[in-house]
Amino acid sequence: MNETQNCSGCAKPVTRFDRYPKYLCFDCVAELTDEDGLGINYHNSSLGYLYGTYKEDAAKRYPNNRCFYKGIEYRAREGRFGGVVVQPAVEGEAIEKTLVPKVAHIV
Ligand SMILES: [Zn+2]
Repeated sequence: MNETQNCSGCAKPVTRFDRYPKYLCFDCVAELTDEDGLGINYHNSSLGYLYGTYKEDAAKRYPNNRCFYKGIEYRAREGRFGGVVVQPAVEGEAIEKTLVPKVAHIV
């Protein structure tokens, strides 16, 4: 049985997850940008929310789960077992806000 699949960004073999057939590997996730090409990171908060920040200024929030890898549009989501899963956006797919409540602490 084939237990790997290929990253949809760089085609590198990654652990197979039937639930996430096109997820980006860590290396590609590290290169995600916003629409203007500014680097962004996604994180899980302690309360289970996904949120984004800008690489240049980690205090600056990136407000949604829409992201880009080499110009291709992706969506970031919380993984079923934690972490952040980034998959190609399906045409017409909604953009979700990722801002955490102000009471939440950044971990
Ligand atoms: Zn990759």
